[in-house]
Amino acid sequence: MAKKTIRTIPQDRSPMPVQDPEVRAANFDEVALGFRKADALNECERCLVCPNAECVPACPVNIDIPGFITKIAEQDFRGAYNILTDSTLLPAICGRVCPQEDQCEGVCPVGDTLEPVAIGRLERWVGDMAIAEGWDNTPYIERNGLKVGIVGSGPAGMACAADMAKAGCDVTVYEALHQAGGVLRYGIPEFRLPNGVLDAELANLTRLGVKIECNTLVGRLFTIEQMREELGFDAVFIGSGAGYPTFMGIDGESLNGVLSANELLTRCNLMGATEFPKYDTPLGLGKRVAVIGSGNTAMDALRVALRAGAEQVYCVYRRTRNESPAREEEIEHAEEEGILFEWLTVPVEILDDGENNVRAMRCLRMELGEPDDSGRRRPVPIEGSDFEFEVDTIVYAIGTNANPIIGQTSKIELNEWGYIKTDDNFATSMASVYAGGDIVTGAATVILAMGTGRHAARSMKAYLGIRDSETVYRAERAGNECKMFGIDIEERTFSRVRVA
Ligand code: FAD
Ligand code: SF4
Repeated sequence: MAKKTIRTIPQDRSPMPVQDPEVRAANFDEVALGFRKADALNECERCLVCPNAECVPACPVNIDIPGFITKIAEQDFRGAYNILTDSTLLPAICGRVCPQEDQCEGVCPVGDTLEPVAIGRLERWVGDMAIAEGWDNTPYIERNGLKVGIVGSGPAGMACAADMAKAGCDVTVYEALHQAGGVLRYGIPEFRLPNGVLDAELANLTRLGVKIECNTLVGRLFTIEQMREELGFDAVFIGSGAGYPTFMGIDGESLNGVLSANELLTRCNLMGATEFPKYDTPLGLGKRVAVIGSGNTAMDALRVALRAGAEQVYCVYRRTRNESPAREEEIEHAEEEGILFEWLTVPVEILDDGENNVRAMRCLRMELGEPDDSGRRRPVPIEGSDFEFEVDTIVYAIGTNANPIIGQTSKIELNEWGYIKTDDNFATSMASVYAGGDIVTGAATVILAMGTGRHAARSMKAYLGIRDSETVYRAERAGNECKMFGIDIEERTFSRVRVA
């Protein structure tokens, strides 16, 4: 076969079919409808299958990207799924929510001349096919009698739980909320990540034998020390996330009608507020809603508020669209749906209606000055520019902090911002206790949280004296011929895991 070059590959990236903006602004159905087979095959043709593919190290869990794309091109879709699940437990989720433009797609050389290969969309396509076909890669697991406890069922906890279960441990995940999934469940709305997709990929965890106990707030029902000393866990992983809201500290924040994005999203995504009174969660947003901030969380809050019935929904951000931290695609979708943007604007006071409800914000207009430490131009207030901005509800989406409960109820060492301190291998200051995800790194991404969960799992295996089954998969992936039933011949007497 002739070697592909940038000139010979299909020049146009397969477009993602989407719901019409006017229709979708009034429903919670998924916006991006997914590739058809022809779109996926066209996109695979665009991959140059680079020998030292830069996309692989640019992926936080090092998915063999040219490998799975080649399998799709060969129409071996199950083979593509097998390669993906060597590295990620959640391909249908990651394919939807990972910021690929900053990771694998950001370094794809096709992107130097054309649009980069749509790696995320291909990953989602294979993940969706696996769900539709009922595929899973549950290995045969030999139990080792060791007990592992996981705090938090977000992507970090899930990834760690899966690896420890595959290694033969008896794994229990404790989740404070009444449903598992972390931000994937309570934060990211249905129109970006349907619950059916999350449920299907979570089921792969329970197939590995992982037990998930919801409504269990660790630090209140029992402490980390008690998990070790009384509940008999040989090792513990903390993946409790960073869901604690941040406010600006301006006057009027205690008025009715001021809430955090996480509160709005949890009420809608987890507690059925959009179906009140069927579910006993009132929302009462009023007609005009302002969301402060312009990251991905802000985009989700804006678009949820619109779908929940607000008539005018404003994004209020102190910088411009160019500095906005949200994914470009999310801003575009929000604009198409009719979200109104007030760039270079900052609230300085929240005003009441005389009955303890929000009536308006007093805002200042800004202009961009010299770059700050983040490299972005610093917003500077324009003197005399203050004005009243009438709103019924104000939603803060300006970042989150570590939840303090674990720190307050255990002896675990925290850093100056309240996040759990770990070494490079995600071991905490307490023996046998590991941590990862947002509670260590600060607010990050799904795939980075998963990556730290997997890294911590490797450290836990080393601590517990479990031979790491990762080496088995590595040997297979490298095309090593010396293997039997998928297991490297030199490893077979030590390995605890056989592929069924
Ligand atoms: P989380 O997902 O926060 O999960 C932690 C879990 O631990 C929660 O379920 C919590 O209830 C539970 N918990 C906390 N304390 C306790 C306790 N004491 N006992 C028991 N359980 C506890 N990233 C992307 O890559 N792409 C996106 O599109 C994206 N969109 C986002 C949208 C929103 C609205 C938000 C808030 C974040 C978004 N992120 C996105 C970021 C990403 O979701 C997080 O970085 C990731 O979920 C962190 O994973 P985690 O496992 O560390 O924590
Ligand atoms: Fe294919 Fe781009 Fe990865 Fe090269 S960098 S292997 S072209 S996806």
